Amino acid sequence: MPIRVLSPASPEAGPSRRRLPPSASVQLGQGDNDIDDDDDDIVEEEEGWTKETFVNRSLSKNDPAIIPQLRQVVDKLKEAIGRIEEGLDVAKETAMALEDSKQDEPSITEVENTFFRALNQRELLKIKIEVLEEMSTRLRGNEEFGNIEKSFAELADPREKAYMAKSQRAKYKNSKEYVDFRQALWEINHETACPPVSQWLEKGDDDVSDDDDFDMGGQTQNYRCPITLMLYKEATTSTKCGHNYSKAAIEDLIESTRKAKRQSKCPVTGCSVPLSKADLKPNPSLQKRADDFERRQQRREDEREDGDDTIAIEEDDDYE
Ligand SMILES: [Zn+2]
Repeated sequence: MPIRVLSPASPEAGPSRRRLPPSASVQLGQGDNDIDDDDDDIVEEEEGWTKETFVNRSLSKNDPAIIPQLRQVVDKLKEAIGRIEEGLDVAKETAMALEDSKQDEPSITEVENTFFRALNQRELLKIKIEVLEEMSTRLRGNEEFGNIEKSFAELADPREKAYMAKSQRAKYKNSKEYVDFRQALWEINHETACPPVSQWLEKGDDDVSDDDDFDMGGQTQNYRCPITLMLYKEATTSTKCGHNYSKAAIEDLIESTRKAKRQSKCPVTGCSVPLSKADLKPNPSLQKRADDFERRQQRREDEREDGDDTIAIEEDDDYE
């Protein structure tokens, strides 16, 4: 649904308007800088809030429609983020299929670049949302914006530029999605723990002051339920703390503590977040990873048995 901040017929709207290609929608305030180098299809679908509907005119709380309209724009941007996140999953699965076909398959780099671009897009959208929410708050506080487009750009541009100027390593080394991407690829052809992801990321000058203690990676995924200590069955995630369990195991645990009239808690050591069944949600993608992991383990064992005579196990180099 198009969102009209102002009618285009508004007399003030005429001369200040600029025609922009459709892909410019939602890229507010980015007119002259080129930090958004990728013309992402995902964002092009977003319509309704272009510079044409977002013309120069003072905007204050006195216009009762404006705050709900900003709210709607924020919702649209959030939808776009949801689609970008679906794209991240697709890219990860594509890269996993390539790695499965051949270790370090060269075209994984291209998929990885797509993944980075999607992460950038998402971050830029988050900045826009943050700015719009800030502006809404200020409008509610009776503040006026003389020129909403300019005010938006003044708030958003420096933040977007600062993000885009960061090095690869600064941008992604603590990205949950990127760590997961690397981890998922790594475990296809290695049995050791995935090394810190910074080794795949170009270092920049801004990385000197970065705290390497927060460098993620290195966990060994074993895909075992912390309750049964067996591989997951119907993997289930706590929405409160993010820990995972087998469905029946966690439900039984919650049920038995409830019967004992005690508060059930996450059984993971050091967590103890209070849990109820309403905090659980199925995690089919984790279950799939666990199944794939099991399948690969099995394949390795079979290969080892087959290769006993020759003792030539290709992967040995990676073990230590
Ligand atoms: Zn927990």
